Amino acid sequence: MQTSPSTQTVNVGGFEIGGPNFTVIAGPCSIESYDQFLETAKGVKTSGAHILRGGIWKMRTSSKDFQGLGSSSFDFIKTVCKETNMTLVSEVTDARQIEEIYDLVSMFQVGSRNMHNYSLLKELGKQKKPVLLKRGFAALINEWVKASEYVTNEGNPNVILCERGIRTFETATRNTLDLNAVAYAKKNSPLPVIVDPSHAVGISALVPDLAFAAAAVGADGIIVEVHPRPKEALSDGMQALTLENFSQMMKKLEKICTAVDKPLHK
Ligand code: PEP
Ligand code: MN
Repeated sequence: MQTSPSTQTVNVGGFEIGGPNFTVIAGPCSIESYDQFLETAKGVKTSGAHILRGGIWKMRTSSKDFQGLGSSSFDFIKTVCKETNMTLVSEVTDARQIEEIYDLVSMFQVGSRNMHNYSLLKELGKQKKPVLLKRGFAALINEWVKASEYVTNEGNPNVILCERGIRTFETATRNTLDLNAVAYAKKNSPLPVIVDPSHAVGISALVPDLAFAAAAVGADGIIVEVHPRPKEALSDGMQALTLENFSQMMKKLEKICTAVDKPLHK
């Protein structure tokens, strides 16, 4: 375990993550269509999100569930990013996808299920773009931080850690948000740390409260799932905020971020 406190910043699409400002990444779990992605992107931007999220290839528990649109979505994703003047964070589930979406994203996401996929991490370490490393749902903090070194050792220092909830004995919520891990990683790793309250709790009504807790504990930002019509979502609808919920959350988040001296990026 490294012992230096979080000091490094990572530039993602023009936003410095890990510095004096708080960053909000928002968008759908899965990119489902041009209309769905554009409507979400415009909505979250209006409410103050800085960067878009959206899955192109999905790691679903069931092979029968929606697996993402894959390469058929590339063209319209470019259009949405251009129309909204936002950049995209998206997950690569396989090293071959890195090249495929290199020009589409400002940061590659490594999902919870792939935190231990060291060959994928090493390949991302050879790239020039930042990497968002989600914590494995059963990974120790130490294993998560050590996993980041598979990327940084290859020459890419731009890694952001993301706490997204761990599996505990509790079943009332999807996972358990480990705020200890956020405070611990901030003090013991040089990397910025953000929180994914959506996968942590799995229930949309509880997502804003955990986002506020993330800001209060010292996270550098959040990544949150938003869908214009959560009931119609092809993945993770239960935890998706509506555009209206997101807008309300942002108003309170702004106050909390200011109170803890880490105001939202402009
Ligand atoms: C996601 O971001 O949609 C996702 C699948 O997250 P995780 O890897 O944390 O489960
Ligand atoms: Mn999801």
